[in-house]
Amino acid sequence: MNPLAVPQKPDTNPTLTVLGFKHQIVYHLHFWAFVAVAPLIMVQWQQDHVLLATLLMLFCLNALAVIALLKFSGHYFLKGRLFPILAVVCAVYSTAINGHAGLYWAYPAAAALFFLLPMKEATGFNVIFLLAMSVVSFLKFPEADFWRITFSLGLTCVFVMIFAWLVGRLQGELTRLATTDPLTGCLNRSQLADVLNVQIQMRERYERVCSIILMDLDYFKLINDRWGHLAGDSVLQELPRRILKRLRESDQLFRVGGEEFMLVLPETRQKDADQLARELLTSISATPFGDGIKVTASASVAEIVKGETWSVWLNRADQALYRAKELGRNQVVSAARPSDEDTETSADPGFAH
Ligand code: GH3
Ligand code: MG
Ligand code: MG
Repeated sequence: MNPLAVPQKPDTNPTLTVLGFKHQIVYHLHFWAFVAVAPLIMVQWQQDHVLLATLLMLFCLNALAVIALLKFSGHYFLKGRLFPILAVVCAVYSTAINGHAGLYWAYPAAAALFFLLPMKEATGFNVIFLLAMSVVSFLKFPEADFWRITFSLGLTCVFVMIFAWLVGRLQGELTRLATTDPLTGCLNRSQLADVLNVQIQMRERYERVCSIILMDLDYFKLINDRWGHLAGDSVLQELPRRILKRLRESDQLFRVGGEEFMLVLPETRQKDADQLARELLTSISATPFGDGIKVTASASVAEIVKGETWSVWLNRADQALYRAKELGRNQVVSAARPSDEDTETSADPGFAH
């Protein structure tokens, strides 16, 4: 039996890695903006621009709070929205009262919108910001400058928007590639521990039930030997299509090993999961795959029990799958409920059948 080391560290969980990058962006933007803006509070105060100095002070206090929270708790508030909102308000107001000296700040403020707000929100805010800056520059500067400012600021916004949109898509695509199995399109094991832990928390806090089905194709080695590896691959590709037809939106299908799959079924009792597993095995064995390849699978079912860890839960399903194999394959075995002693141990489950 191969021990399954489900990754839990942030650097091996793709979703947490992306979140880590986002936190770094937020941290650096707040830090460097604080360094640049803090001296301006004194400058504006000395020029009797009390309102602007107060707004800048608010901006700096918000930056300090976000920096401290990120440093010590790893979280921040309002999703970092105060930074770009205060930045654009300060830029518009400063341009209105300081002219060109305030205008220069409009460009980094526009960029910050796209780095800190979700794309739709940032675009909306930017349109309002551009309009406000156009009105202020129309009133404040000669007409030629008004056009220059409107177009150069607009172009800056478009460039940053395209860049932020591409970075967002890249993040999404990298997360998808890192969390799915390229052959079958199923989820891979990278987030399995997180998904199971969420279900355990739902059980502990809200008494919600959840079951898992472990499924392993029978004598798959023989299928490869007889029909070839490529035919084996197409069986593995066809299998999730058959399974997914019967799943709910909230169910998740993982490929946990070569020819081993796992279904996480929230809000599903053991009895109903057992029924589903039987139907799935029938849908596999009833119709041959590809050019008449007859395939069967064995499965086990385990409902989460209060107080157990994800690894104990998985281990129970794993043991039941062994029994399904021992009993002759092509059948479902329900996992036994754990004894109190079992729930306290945290054995590494294995998926090698
Ligand atoms: P059992 O009924 O006991 O599960 O027998 P089995 O032959 O299915 O199990 P075993 O663990 O001995 O062999 C699993 C086989 O699955 C061996 C391996 O070549 C095959 N396999 C694993 N991953 C892939 C894959 O991506 N494509 C193909 N074609 N075969 C794979
Ligand atoms: Mg097998
Ligand atoms: Mg196996």
